[in-house]
Amino acid sequence: MNKNSSNIMALAPSTSNKRETVCIFGTGDFGRALGHKMIQSGYPVVYGSRSTQISNLIPKDAEVLGHAEAAQKAAVIIIAIQRQHYGFLTPLAEILHGKVLVDISNNLKLNQYPESNAEYLAQLLPGSKVVKAFNTVSAWALQSGTLDASRQVFVCGDDVEAKQMVMNIVRALGLTPLDKGSLLAAQEIENYPLQLFPMWKFPIFLSLGLTVFFFFYCLALDVIYTYIYENNNFSFFIAITIPNRVCPVMALILLALVYLPGIFAAIIQLYRGTKYRRFPDWLDKWMLCRKQLGLIALAFASLHAVFTLVTPLRAFASWRTGKGIISQVLNNRTEPLNNTNAWLSDSYLALGILGFFFFVLLGITSLPSVSNNVNWREFRFVQSKLGYLALILCTAHTLVYGGKWFLSPSAYKWYLPNIYILSLIVPCAVLVVKFVLIFPCVDKPLTQIRQGWERNPKCSE
Ligand code: NAP
Repeated sequence: MNKNSSNIMALAPSTSNKRETVCIFGTGDFGRALGHKMIQSGYPVVYGSRSTQISNLIPKDAEVLGHAEAAQKAAVIIIAIQRQHYGFLTPLAEILHGKVLVDISNNLKLNQYPESNAEYLAQLLPGSKVVKAFNTVSAWALQSGTLDASRQVFVCGDDVEAKQMVMNIVRALGLTPLDKGSLLAAQEIENYPLQLFPMWKFPIFLSLGLTVFFFFYCLALDVIYTYIYENNNFSFFIAITIPNRVCPVMALILLALVYLPGIFAAIIQLYRGTKYRRFPDWLDKWMLCRKQLGLIALAFASLHAVFTLVTPLRAFASWRTGKGIISQVLNNRTEPLNNTNAWLSDSYLALGILGFFFFVLLGITSLPSVSNNVNWREFRFVQSKLGYLALILCTAHTLVYGGKWFLSPSAYKWYLPNIYILSLIVPCAVLVVKFVLIFPCVDKPLTQIRQGWERNPKCSE
């Protein structure tokens, strides 16, 4: 019988419910986990292995044969072997001719080889139909059934029919295939599992860097300075006081950094008089991680809220209150209620609570389950209009907190400004420029540019 007749039969649409045998090369972790799942889904599985001895680890109903013998039993062969061993497949080229080879391999580094593993396999076996799939699913998730977060299986390949066969298998396993196109997409698919929170890198490094800077800044001014010049040991400030200064400062600066790239983009578009020229790379990248910056800002704001709520429980707070009362008793006088201070403290708290409320609202609407349920205009309204409102309220909260005190010379220990003054620089700059941008004489041309108008349109030749 013609060696390839089994392929032709397998490629023809199946008329019965019986599933076609699938061959898996390699009885390693992934080969076994996938085989197990396939048997559960009704596929007869045959392994191609260097050793035909059945071990306890191999799924009970699977057959284990030599590579050549196993390959002849199926039209679809899953290559569950590391790329560096693909050389052993070349002598099997004739048997594998016309078969669908599923490359599931990953690498250890991004762009480790000049071509993707799947393209390399296709070069080694030009007579076979190579399809890339399953590489983003882990053996552990397959075996333990914890696939909820990663049900999507990226599939790509040059042969449409072969790709369809693999997608049918993916579906039969209870997973969702996502067609990524031709084998050219394989490199990108192979890079997915190697990426470590790509959108979070810049926001996390920036937040860490700023947090460390502000922490030591506060440590120098609130602990070291007081120790040297006032002989007070306030080292316990490290636990709550300093974190409760750093957190609001970080929340405010990061929230302003969410809106700053939009301001830069508007200025660039006004200057260029067109929206059809690409923004610089750094601005593009910055715009893409605004959501992550906003969520980190929200985390800092939440920590600030919690730290503030525990303040009355602190020994330092009760000591300070007691000291105030005792000094009034000793001096035999009662401090009258300062109405201005009462107003300032209440407004400061009210602004903080309202700012935090809108901050949380922004965070909630950025969740995919919520953002998928609002239309573009609603999403923009919350993220832009309510976002600016949150920024205004939080900036006002800080300004009212500082009040006249920011102008007092005692706020400048070692001639350095208090961190709350530093925290206001970016938000105030963003709000001032945004205020200028909404003036009709600036907003009108900007809106026109964003609708496609160009100051110097290119003439069509
Ligand atoms: P593994 O446990 O190391 O198994 C690889 C199998 O390849 C071995 O069990 C062996 O099977 C076979 N093999 C080893 N050296 C060989 C050689 N010189 N010639 C022929 N066959 C050889 O690896 P794995 O974790 O199963 O991964 C297999 C592939 O799946 C890799 O390309 C990996 O990137 C990919 N992958 C793995 C996971 C995962 O979670 N593990 C997830 C996605 C993708 P026999 O002894 O039966 O011949």
